[in-house]
Amino acid sequence: MNLIERDLASVWHPFTPQKNMAAPLAITKAKGSFLFDENNNSYIDAISSWWVNIHGHAHEYIATKIYEQALTLEHIIFAGFTHEPAVRLAERLLKILPAGFSRIFYSDDGSTSTEVAIKMAIQYWWNQSMVNSEQLGVSSEKLPVRRNKILAFTNAYHGDTFGAMSVSDRSVFTLAFHDVLMEVVLIDTPDESNINFIKEKITAHADSIAAFIYEPLVQGAGGMKMYSVALMDELLHFIKQKNILCIADEVMTGFGRTGKLFASEHLQTKPDIICMSKGLTGGTMALGATACTDKIYQVFVQDDARKTFFHGHSFTANPLACAAANASLDLFEENNTMKTVEHITQRNIAFAQQLKQLKGIKNVRVLGTILAFEVTKGEDAYLNNVSQTIIKKAMEKGVYIRPLGNTVYIMPPYCITDEELGRVYRVLLEVL
Ligand code: PMP
Repeated sequence: MNLIERDLASVWHPFTPQKNMAAPLAITKAKGSFLFDENNNSYIDAISSWWVNIHGHAHEYIATKIYEQALTLEHIIFAGFTHEPAVRLAERLLKILPAGFSRIFYSDDGSTSTEVAIKMAIQYWWNQSMVNSEQLGVSSEKLPVRRNKILAFTNAYHGDTFGAMSVSDRSVFTLAFHDVLMEVVLIDTPDESNINFIKEKITAHADSIAAFIYEPLVQGAGGMKMYSVALMDELLHFIKQKNILCIADEVMTGFGRTGKLFASEHLQTKPDIICMSKGLTGGTMALGATACTDKIYQVFVQDDARKTFFHGHSFTANPLACAAANASLDLFEENNTMKTVEHITQRNIAFAQQLKQLKGIKNVRVLGTILAFEVTKGEDAYLNNVSQTIIKKAMEKGVYIRPLGNTVYIMPPYCITDEELGRVYRVLLEVL
């Protein structure tokens, strides 16, 4: 049996309808912006392999750092032990995150980073409201009311584990689980017409809402939907006044994607918790990180052991992943990566002008290195099959994209050269 036959007989792929599934393509190697298949055909990875790869594939510097780390300390349980790569990474993240964060909690990926954030926020309120009047020296009536609901955006996506699914919008991704998901308060992303209604809805539930989770300025899996900076600022300010914790899910937007190191930098009102993954390790190893402010952390510093944050994964702060993340941050510093991001942004803006002249597409938009639009063929939906045709045509021309239904987007690695990006644009035009 060849590799594809063996795959088809033994593997179950993610987000892939299994009936009449097209055979997967075997990739044998990758370098920089390029993927190479078994027959040595090359494809530009124009979506950075599900948005993770930022410095290019098989990056020698990152690979060397992982190798060196593997020969030194490949893994150690992170309860009761620590290691240099994790400490150094935490220190560096706290320096580059928007001001005010004091602790980094490590996990495995994007879903676990949001899962940690949600649990942290709910327990933040529980720890303070737990009836333990003797220890706190106040009568239980005076303790704050427990808040346990999460506020989230419609069309949001925060991951595939149960908590992360719960705070994501109800969609085709979550259909089978609606009756077993945690209840959330859903609001639309703000625009001029709905902002007052949104505020009223929040006010009605405010006393029971522990936290608000949001993908800052662009909703990724929901179709690269971008929304207003000014109105989001107004909304965040309002939400903070209601004493609701703000969780920025920067799993996709972090590490330069939107033109700033973190999308939250576009906004005046800063979150209390930030979730990171994907680009954190330059896209080479799985790692999640959740940062919180001291206000939150201190609520977990308690004599009562029942108020401990009882959460942790076997691979928490895996040294190889932390070494990869440190290497990625080195590259940001040494190569002035944010300047490259700015260059890609400007090119995207110019290309968007060209796209706006085309018939058959709509809503052309750019935020940093992300460029997106909708094809008007068929309905606006994830299951719109036009994506399959577009993927096939673009692959034939040596570019890999993976539209979300009729939403076509690119999110290239920052190492992409002018010529390679030009080729991606040309192929998009040809396919359209
Ligand atoms: N949050 C956001 C904003 C995401 O885009 C994703 C992944 N697409 C996740 C969370 C989940 O990350 P992971 O797939 O690594 O679990």
